[in-house]
Amino acid sequence: MPELPEVETVRRGLEPAMVGARIAKVELRRGDIRFPFPPRFRERLAGQRIAALARRAKYLLFQLDGGETLIAHLGMSGSFRIDAAATTTPGAFHRERSKDPKHDHVALHLDNGSIVTYNDPRRFGFMDLIRSEALETHPRLSGLGDEPLAPQFDASRLAKLFAGSRAPLKAALLDQKRIAGLGNIYVCEALFRARLSPFRPAGILADARGVPTRAAAALAKAIRAVLEEAIEAGGSTLRDHRRADGELGYFQHAFVVYDREGSPCPRPRCRGTIARIAQSGRSTFWCPVCQK
Ligand SMILES: [Zn+2]
Repeated sequence: MPELPEVETVRRGLEPAMVGARIAKVELRRGDIRFPFPPRFRERLAGQRIAALARRAKYLLFQLDGGETLIAHLGMSGSFRIDAAATTTPGAFHRERSKDPKHDHVALHLDNGSIVTYNDPRRFGFMDLIRSEALETHPRLSGLGDEPLAPQFDASRLAKLFAGSRAPLKAALLDQKRIAGLGNIYVCEALFRARLSPFRPAGILADARGVPTRAAAALAKAIRAVLEEAIEAGGSTLRDHRRADGELGYFQHAFVVYDREGSPCPRPRCRGTIARIAQSGRSTFWCPVCQK
């Protein structure tokens, strides 16, 4: 499943091709993806100019100048392709993307000559259209917690979110109602970077007066760093890995602890070995020696 950095990379890849352009024509190859397309989907999109392309958690938000917003979620296997002078696939991370045209479900023909196609073999993705002012009330968006890359997401915010919580840090950070879009991989990576055990109660992020602790400061910094580094790495595939046929090279992001059970701890001078355990149904990877 695409994680937040991947979705952000897709957003940054689509932005220059789409923002400012008008949707000239919409092709729908089927009536649904995960859910049926909203009523009059084609007609409501056609003729609209894309004013901005934003992201909330793992949702892409195409803001249209007519006052509606197109919401898109990539599900398990969704991807966008831009056909212009050269074909590019923004946000190709570590999965082989389908190039099979039978999985092309939606094609947006733009007045700048580009065609943006949505491909999704497993069809867990979806698209919806909503009045922009009602975005916060959309059932998929209304319950979402803090955006971890927002400027105001810091140690104080972590302390406020988790003061008094007895939930283990790992489970607390995965709670989408508190922090939105931070997936299993990046929680493992951030806890390693902050030297925090995934089993410590989340309440350690605030002292008795609710003031953020050093752990909160380290964790806020680590969360931002692991996400930004992954976005940077994903973005570099857009710039550097374009081959002659216009396809982007597939990118293997190097995770430090995730999926590295049995490897020596990468922290200098630590003699630990990366361990794995199932925590609330998800694999947790951590170093039992240096994560306290
Ligand atoms: Zn270690």
